[in-house]
Amino acid sequence: MPTTHAAAVRNLVAARLDDVLADLDLLVSLETPSQRRDLLRAALPQIEAYLVGRLGEPARRVQHDGGEFGDVLDLTWTGSGAAGEVLSLAHYDTVWPEGTLAGWPLRRDGDVLTGPGVLDMKLGIVQTVWALLALLELGVPHPDLRLMLTADEEIGSRAGRPHLEAAAREALVTLVTEPSADGAVKTRRKGMVFADLVVNGVEAHAGLDPDTGASAVYELATLVPEVVALAESGRGTTVNVGTFTGGTGRNVVAGHATCAVDVRIQEPAEEDRVVAALEALRPHDPRCRLEVAIDRNRPPMNPGEHTARLVGLARVAGADLGVEVGEVADGGASDANFIAALGLPVLDGLGGIGAGPHARHEHVLVSGVPRQTALLAGIIEQLAG
Ligand SMILES: [Zn+2]
Repeated sequence: MPTTHAAAVRNLVAARLDDVLADLDLLVSLETPSQRRDLLRAALPQIEAYLVGRLGEPARRVQHDGGEFGDVLDLTWTGSGAAGEVLSLAHYDTVWPEGTLAGWPLRRDGDVLTGPGVLDMKLGIVQTVWALLALLELGVPHPDLRLMLTADEEIGSRAGRPHLEAAAREALVTLVTEPSADGAVKTRRKGMVFADLVVNGVEAHAGLDPDTGASAVYELATLVPEVVALAESGRGTTVNVGTFTGGTGRNVVAGHATCAVDVRIQEPAEEDRVVAALEALRPHDPRCRLEVAIDRNRPPMNPGEHTARLVGLARVAGADLGVEVGEVADGGASDANFIAALGLPVLDGLGGIGAGPHARHEHVLVSGVPRQTALLAGIIEQLAG
């Protein structure tokens, strides 16, 4: 006897795959770059109309003002039990600028469906809708489902963070439908610290009076090895100096230089160590001034007290589908990092199967859609209490 209705959900979704893919086409056709509040604002009513069209009017609807970023949509559909609510968390912004779709429309070639934002993470939204729709149509008892769609995940979630943290505190469990790792869930993610180093030196003519100048380029170049040396590969801490710019011309001693640093951390204590070391950097030439701007972007996510139970729910649903659900670490961060850092139950990587997020070969595998939708439904169902 199966424990969940996951297999029935898979069959329902497989039978209506054309509808599911039409939904995905609709969401991908709405271009939603994180930096474009105007486009996000224009897309949100269309996304909401789609959700309501499939799932009916929600029992509760809130639209949180995103300020300079896009708004957060917060919808709750009442379930059949009184157990509480499950938070399904997704973002509707993508890394792709306006116009990308013109040269790269949603296109299917066999099992591969490619398009901007298809994996990260518009399919995650569509699969959530179909998971709930299938539970409703099959008459399966399930908890209240609160769907929160944020608009600035790809640029640090400054607007989304307070809302998703508050929602996660109220939920039994938060399920994040970021891309799956070939069907595995994600229970470990790296945290990120961003640093911008700016050096101001003293400009001078490179030929006439070089000694009066203090080169910002040289100063910053000598600081870069100190920054890179903060990496501790054995602890999962990596450091990348991704950009380096400076100076105004070949024959000018550079008055200005800047570099952008990306630090990934796995151990929570590493964040403070790295930040303290970055703040302690000093220029070697006293005529140069150094400014370090630090953004503690996201804390690391590590398995917590709730993780084994949540992975267990996924494994039970997986077993009903005849698949073994793995558990993996991911070098990237997501909004699950914020929730895990609060000690709240969260499971990530429940979205589409595919590859190439943030890359031109971004795609999903159509064959993974019924299975992933069913996995999500099977987990939600078990939370009915
Ligand atoms: Zn994402």
